[in-house]
Amino acid sequence: MKEISIALAGNPNSGKTSIFNELTGTSQYVGNWPGVTVEKKEGTWRKNKKVKIQDLPGIYSLSPYTPEEIVARDYLLHQQPEVILNVVDASNLERNLYLTTQLLETGIPVVVDLNMMDVVKKMGNRVNEEKLAYGLGTPVVCTSAVKGDGVEAAAEKAEKWAKDKTFSPTFPSYDRKLESALSEIEDFLPSTISSRQTRWYAIKLFERDTRVQAELSFSEEIQKEIEEIIQISEKIFADDSESILINERYEFIVKLVELCSTKKDSFKLTWSDKIDRIVTNRILAIPVFAFVMWLVYYISIQTIGTMGTDWINDTLFGTIIPNAATGAMVSLHIAGWMQALVLDGIIAGVGAVLGFLPQIATLFFCLAVLEDCGYMARIAFVMDRFFRKFGLSGKSFIPMLIATGCGVPAVMATRTIENEKDRRMTVMVTTFMPCSAKLPIIALIAGAFFPTSSWVAPSAYFIGIAAIVLSGIMLKKTALFSGDPAPFIMELPAYHMPRARGVLQQTWNRSVAFVKKAGTIIFVACILIWFMSSYNFQLKPVAEDVSILAAIGNVVAPLFAPLGWGNWRATVATVTGLIAKENVVGTFGILYGGMAEVSENGHEVWPMLQVAFTSVSGYSFLIFNLLCAPCFAAIGAIHREMITWKWTGIAIGYQCGLAYLVSFVVYQLGSWFFENNNFGLGQFLAIGVIGGIIYALVRKPRKKLDMAGVPSAI
Ligand code: GDP
Repeated sequence: MKEISIALAGNPNSGKTSIFNELTGTSQYVGNWPGVTVEKKEGTWRKNKKVKIQDLPGIYSLSPYTPEEIVARDYLLHQQPEVILNVVDASNLERNLYLTTQLLETGIPVVVDLNMMDVVKKMGNRVNEEKLAYGLGTPVVCTSAVKGDGVEAAAEKAEKWAKDKTFSPTFPSYDRKLESALSEIEDFLPSTISSRQTRWYAIKLFERDTRVQAELSFSEEIQKEIEEIIQISEKIFADDSESILINERYEFIVKLVELCSTKKDSFKLTWSDKIDRIVTNRILAIPVFAFVMWLVYYISIQTIGTMGTDWINDTLFGTIIPNAATGAMVSLHIAGWMQALVLDGIIAGVGAVLGFLPQIATLFFCLAVLEDCGYMARIAFVMDRFFRKFGLSGKSFIPMLIATGCGVPAVMATRTIENEKDRRMTVMVTTFMPCSAKLPIIALIAGAFFPTSSWVAPSAYFIGIAAIVLSGIMLKKTALFSGDPAPFIMELPAYHMPRARGVLQQTWNRSVAFVKKAGTIIFVACILIWFMSSYNFQLKPVAEDVSILAAIGNVVAPLFAPLGWGNWRATVATVTGLIAKENVVGTFGILYGGMAEVSENGHEVWPMLQVAFTSVSGYSFLIFNLLCAPCFAAIGAIHREMITWKWTGIAIGYQCGLAYLVSFVVYQLGSWFFENNNFGLGQFLAIGVIGGIIYALVRKPRKKLDMAGVPSAI
């Protein structure tokens, strides 16, 4: 009897190892796949030594992005096992069937093994295997590997299917327009490719799979014709080719699962699906997201959060605490300088930061609700599609979500990105998102200069995203970062009502961390800033304008003059922001607050700011502080992830450079357009900068991005 090979393929944690062990017993051989550190396991079937069982690495897809995927697909394509036993976690059918669609496309006979059936039963769900087999056009078996149930029968079925003479491959069918593009591509394939495999090659060419392009090494003319077919489809579907296939596969899977599985809470799921139709819709997703984020900022910065902040600023830190402190210190005969330190340094500085607590707590609350109900997971899904158009991985969005809280864990979260270039780039751009410490700056500028416009605060969020996307496009074109991003597959949990306890807990924890920081690092920084702004180098008390801080600030300030805020106070505030971003506002509290004690409305800093800045220079200041180097803690995290100082330097240099250029353009053109400044050298240079950025965005990539020499999709 002829020997046959069964290849075990499936997602990680689908139960492959359990099945492999059950089938092979002690007859196992464990080694490594050649050239990579991916474990290779093979063995023979206990019941029939002529059947070889090859365990493939756990994978989610057959794209060429991870070593595991490459090992698995090379084995399937070049070793051509007689049959694939596709282990599927039946309790997670949608996600697992994604790989199944691709395994079927290899043209190799596939038996789908619905594993974890015990879990499915326990959940009260059911899967109709006959319907599934009908829909997939391939045999389906059920197992519970931990109990050993059905495992032998699965191998028997695989053996039988491998020997079935009537076998001819059936493939999942997709949209008519996609199918016709695929069949056009098939016409170009050389006759050396067996008819079973033409579908696989056509699909991979459509996905612009560089390994397949290199393997087939078409003439330039054919490459061009294939590229034209792909581009026409991309226009028709208004999506990139890889996303078209991802969407089509999922659409096929969703219909199939609807047909063959019943879930206990099926009502809930369809309700969830209906929301997803809108929320993850190709056209509506981004506008819906923009609206949600606008609403979140509107609630927290503009309306509800503001009420609390007003009270803290006007009443608590405006009158109650200063009056009480003054009364206490006077009655205790505290020295004048100490009184000044407490009132103008600590209360003005720390108070200015703490004043934003209600707004920040409201923002934390809104974000926690979005996270808990499942919306944030959708955003990552939507953003994956959106980001990949620009060469960024959707995985980059998770660190960016975390960065809205704090840049330090966000930078650490980039570890989940396997591709090193993508990871480095994400580390570099993720702190463009406004973290909670930057929020007081946003609220301050929005309140002082744009009290009636609700777009200013959320604009900070979108400037962050725009900086990330544009950086993605520009950086991907440099030799440092070129290459294809890896798609990521995540499960979308069903929507549910946010749990009050979890949401409140998260809001509380983050708020406490904010207050703690104000009481420690900000507190110390405020004392230092007060001291340096009250004394000169001879340590004599002097007016602020001739203080140590003014002297230092005046040296650096001209650097920022082209951005519209070349005064020493703004310069010092920006630099203290490196210690912690809250310091920017704390420093303003000390430097502008103390001078405005007579102010009627209690927002002591606002009128002084309105004198020192125009609206446009205020906005330019906001943008610079949003995009420039993050605080030292985050820079430390960037260094830990980048490992070398060279890379850390590249990251910080890029952030500061971009911040400078964007603020420059905003100030120069804004002041000309809105504030009647003359059109001069600054405006001319600003237009030059825009031209330079546009060039960096549209120019041809520096390096040929793939082996076949076909420019990639970026
Ligand atoms: P692999 O990553 O695909 O090799 O999966 P493993 O065989 O290591 O299984 C992952 C986990 O799922 C282990 O904890 C197994 O004990 C468990 N598991 C595997 N098959 C089943 C099953 O049929 N039912 C249940 N309840 N658990 C299973």
